[in-house]
Amino acid sequence: MSNCAIVGINWGDEGKGRMVDLITRDYDIVIRYQGGGNAGHTVVNEKGKFALHLLPSGIFRDGVVNILGNGVALDCESLWTEMEDVRSKGVKISPETLKISERASLLLPWHRELDALEETRLKDQKYGSTKQGIAPFYSDKFRKKTIMAGELFYPEYLKAHLSGILEWENLILKNIYRAPEWDMDKILNWIQEYGGKIRDFICDTGAFLQDAVKENKNILFEAQLGALRDLDYGIYPYTTSSNAIAAYAPVGSGLPGMKLDKIIGVVKAYSTCVGEGPFVCELFGKEADQLREAGREYGAKTGRPRRVGPIDIPATRYGVQSQNADCIALTKLDILSYLDQIPVCVKYQLPDGTRTEAFPFPALLNQCQPVIEYLPGWKRDISGARNWDDLPEAARNYVDYIQSKIGAYIGYISVGPERDAIILK
Ligand code: GDP
Ligand code: MG
Repeated sequence: MSNCAIVGINWGDEGKGRMVDLITRDYDIVIRYQGGGNAGHTVVNEKGKFALHLLPSGIFRDGVVNILGNGVALDCESLWTEMEDVRSKGVKISPETLKISERASLLLPWHRELDALEETRLKDQKYGSTKQGIAPFYSDKFRKKTIMAGELFYPEYLKAHLSGILEWENLILKNIYRAPEWDMDKILNWIQEYGGKIRDFICDTGAFLQDAVKENKNILFEAQLGALRDLDYGIYPYTTSSNAIAAYAPVGSGLPGMKLDKIIGVVKAYSTCVGEGPFVCELFGKEADQLREAGREYGAKTGRPRRVGPIDIPATRYGVQSQNADCIALTKLDILSYLDQIPVCVKYQLPDGTRTEAFPFPALLNQCQPVIEYLPGWKRDISGARNWDDLPEAARNYVDYIQSKIGAYIGYISVGPERDAIILK
């Protein structure tokens, strides 16, 4: 038996879905352990092109069991919509291939409303939320104001529990945001409708996983977002509201004592960032437009243009350390082929003029300037490369340079969105 976590090293959108889809060929179980429908994990394979939000990216492989762990934000409505969408493209989803933890807490419709209300209230101070209700959901989970999926099997218990929660949510909606309140019938109807649709998939995934471990099954953990968006280790408050780092994978999955065997950190060959917050190496103007167009950098969930920049060594090294990644998958190297010379942000210059490779405390980031070095470009299409030796020397030098700077071995190089567009090094 072995297990592996596939995690983002940067701001998310590094290509985790693409890597999970590839690597699940060696795994029996894929688990999403945190986050929710705010994820956008793109997978391109023989079944088509998909942007997955809550479904684990192992859903396309026959024989793989996909699990939504206790750590996820379970939005039954968006999960059901996504399941219908994926099924319409010929992918089979059944309680044998998808299991939802009875301990996963429900993201309720008022969480979306509260998310949007708070972003509106914040005006130009907003966090850049995807408005999927994630921050209000996790806030409520931690202050014990939501319900667990397994409560759907105990309607009387659920109703009693929900009435106290409803009272609380209405206090917030009415007194803080002057927004319309919810009533019991309306929320119960919603729970019956969408909870009812996913009811058959809910089970004791912890027990299932304990058995799987005894049977030596191989388990893959799929993270959402990246280290720089982790609630504890990221650029707070411009983080998500859950722990995206690998260390949380066992806890959010239902195997709290499990030790990780392997951690694959996914790094894009350049930087992108969706939403607000410091982004030291950000490019603007024509240079940014060219890179954004070349990489088609628009959010898989929201369609928002992603902010772009060169690869950021201080941030990436920090991400590697936070994830404790022992192997790196470098994605989208093919996108850099148009550049004569490739910018790399090697250090940050602090306000006092000193230069550092260390990643500063969040409060300092907006005062940092990127220190850029240039490496020769290769100016050749590399999307057909499948072996290390197929890559032009300048591309190999770029990979080796990044590897030496971030302090982790680059074991995979992705040169296209398709499953097989990969070089194993
Ligand atoms: P995730 O959220 O980490 O799963 O990443 P996203 O799916 O949001 O963003 C990655 C985007 O890049 C998707 O559109 C992928 O199809 C695409 N992609 C992934 N790897 C490669 C690659 O090596 N080359 C190219 N051209 N596209 C890639
Ligand atoms: Mg994404």
